[in-house]
Amino acid sequence: MNADKVASALQSLEGVAGRVLIGNEWLGTGAVLSSISPSDGSEISGIALAGQSEIDAAVDAAQSAMAGEWGKLLPAARARLMLKLAELIEAHVDVIATIEAADGVRPYVEALYGDIPASAGIFRHYAGVAGTIEGSIKYPSIGYAPPGTELRCLVDRSPIGVVASIIPWNFPFVMACVRVAPALAAGCSVILKPPEDASLSSLLLGKLAVEAGFPAGAINILTGRGDEAGAALVRHDGVDKISFTGSTRVGRDIGAVAGATFKKHSLELGGKCSAIVMDDADLDWAAAGLAGSSFGNAGQVCVASARILVHEVVHDMFIEKLKGHAGAKRPGSTFDAEASLGPIISAKQQQRIFDLVDDAKTTGATLSNDAVTETRDGFYANPVIVSDLPQNARMAQEEVFGPVVAVESFTDLDAAIASANATPYGLAGSVWTQRWRDANHVMKHMEAGMIYVNCHAWADPSIPMEGLKASGIGVEGGREGVEGYLKSKTALALL
Ligand code: NAD
Repeated sequence: MNADKVASALQSLEGVAGRVLIGNEWLGTGAVLSSISPSDGSEISGIALAGQSEIDAAVDAAQSAMAGEWGKLLPAARARLMLKLAELIEAHVDVIATIEAADGVRPYVEALYGDIPASAGIFRHYAGVAGTIEGSIKYPSIGYAPPGTELRCLVDRSPIGVVASIIPWNFPFVMACVRVAPALAAGCSVILKPPEDASLSSLLLGKLAVEAGFPAGAINILTGRGDEAGAALVRHDGVDKISFTGSTRVGRDIGAVAGATFKKHSLELGGKCSAIVMDDADLDWAAAGLAGSSFGNAGQVCVASARILVHEVVHDMFIEKLKGHAGAKRPGSTFDAEASLGPIISAKQQQRIFDLVDDAKTTGATLSNDAVTETRDGFYANPVIVSDLPQNARMAQEEVFGPVVAVESFTDLDAAIASANATPYGLAGSVWTQRWRDANHVMKHMEAGMIYVNCHAWADPSIPMEGLKASGIGVEGGREGVEGYLKSKTALALL
């Protein structure tokens, strides 16, 4: 790691590291968890562990914000604050990128030129949406209304209230912004629960939000363990909506609690995404794009192309090109300019990748190489291309969340779609072809909430997305995503 650069960036966390943000106050909790850099396994800082009293206080602060200054702001005033926050994010792009790269798996250069400027763009996008929220008026035809009267039906759309936003570690700053911004645009107050493996950049977001002038309680940040702070937030009566992004395993439990307590919720969960490469695909473009989406962020991407189904006519040529890209990947620290594959978030996640690769070996599948890298500090895995993987193998069904991709050939498009659909997940998929008819066929029949054509894993705040099957419930993203942070009240007036 670049020790001096990291040490200097860590200074910007002074007064906020090891604390939670409640009602614009940074408070210690008495319990701290080490922040470990996956690049070299070193301890770089610590985060506070929020307990029940902090959760109660954050909910109180968020409710007071709704009833007070924040709840009374006009949409244009909310938008102004969001634009100010976007400006501050841009002004601190280097320090945020440095913290992001030191604390987690995002390569510094990608954070500097990609994630952090894009996060400012997310706030700008949703600032634009804040003023577009509208209700409606209807003219019902109710025959028994007395003659001479008029009926008016008004559908009011207002913020749902206190939102608990629980996010994963793979793109922590982008993820925090993309979940917090639409909730604020809708006028909700937010309690953000960052991932315990990479919380530090969320603290910077909180610091900048206070500096931008957000009223107390509009944005609260509770660091802590998922099964403690996260679970307690989900259960809390004062939380009106849970916006959860993370694993299907945890999402299932959260959905059960939310269902039992009638809380609104959206769940953006795991995936096992397939790409279908047709015989007419531009193979150079497809191989480069799919290498990017299979191995980018070391495969720690929910919509990563984990399976690639290639038409048999072009299969061998495609594999050669994909191997070329994989072979050029060199694992290394998030600050290593020569590295092209960043670290894995933790030793536990690294071991899970190795276990799934070992399991694939026992099924008779062919592996391009082993996932285990030469010994080094930190947590890394080599890119692996797997062929002849049986459909019922664990790796064909479970999310690996690492730089591992299974490739198979097909002759019939419907059989390829059926194979892609034969997993519990339905997050995303792609098709690579110049033929509109084939692309349209895949868009219609692939069971996934997001289908890319001639690209994969591209993102923009204007794009709405909802996972199907075990990949989630509820739309996030785009103008549509803001709807999930609004409640409807209908008034029927006889005048
Ligand atoms: P995770 O489910 O372990 O944790 C996600 C968040 O939930 C963390 O903040 C964690 O602290 C919290 N949490 C854990 N247990 C909890 C509980 N019992 N109650 C409440 N909160 C709890 O997931 P992860 O390992 O951090 O992230 C990887 C997963 O996230 C992958 O499955 C990936 O596909 C998924 N993901 C999905 C999307 C999407 O948009 N669909 C985006 C990114 C990541």
